[in-house]
Amino acid sequence: MKIITVVLLSVLAILALTLAIPLRGQTQSPADKTTPTVEFKVSKGGADKTVLLRVLAAVSKLENKEKKDVITLSVASVIDDKNFLCHKMKKSYHTIADSSARVGGGGGSAGYVTESVDYSTMVWLTTNQPHKVADDELLTDIGVIESDNIKKRGGSSYRQLIEAPENETSAFTKEQFIAALKEGKTWRLEKFGTKDCENCFGKGHADALRKYAKCLICDGTGKITVDYLVKW
Ligand SMILES: [Zn+2]
Repeated sequence: MKIITVVLLSVLAILALTLAIPLRGQTQSPADKTTPTVEFKVSKGGADKTVLLRVLAAVSKLENKEKKDVITLSVASVIDDKNFLCHKMKKSYHTIADSSARVGGGGGSAGYVTESVDYSTMVWLTTNQPHKVADDELLTDIGVIESDNIKKRGGSSYRQLIEAPENETSAFTKEQFIAALKEGKTWRLEKFGTKDCENCFGKGHADALRKYAKCLICDGTGKITVDYLVKW
């Protein structure tokens, strides 16, 4: 009798695990599921310079977009009308744990965002335009560029953030690209390339028997889009 109970419990445990795996998969974003990723290793890019140049152009675009960060800062101390010591504001996401989360139909993912002063960081902000603010006031939606400059004041050091010009168009050079890659940086270029559909082996139709039925995975094109993961 004991043996039967153990066997039964094991079967139940396996069943529970099998059911749990697809549920866990649902936390992935749809992009992870539908677009496969191919690795593009620049160190082995070799002969195909056309693709490499396209990759560099796409990465450069991403870098220039990322460079400018729009943030809100809380002024800790005014140095002059263009220089401020500030705390960054941090966004926190709060999930609603009670039954009202389910009303929204989001599967318990309902919540709200709050902003609070992050007292663990203090930065030196230099702006292009003068701002008339007092201590503890907010500088909202400032487009900034992270710099490596360290500013010193009263025996303390602060990282300098510089307000970005309205049209920030500086290019990401090939040298910066290679240097960043060698430091281990990677970029994901969404839907950057195509490859043969694995469902129909690039033929576009479902199978030999239903020759004229379109392959549903590639919609009959024989190709599917892929993300490029650019790395050294
Ligand atoms: Zn197909």
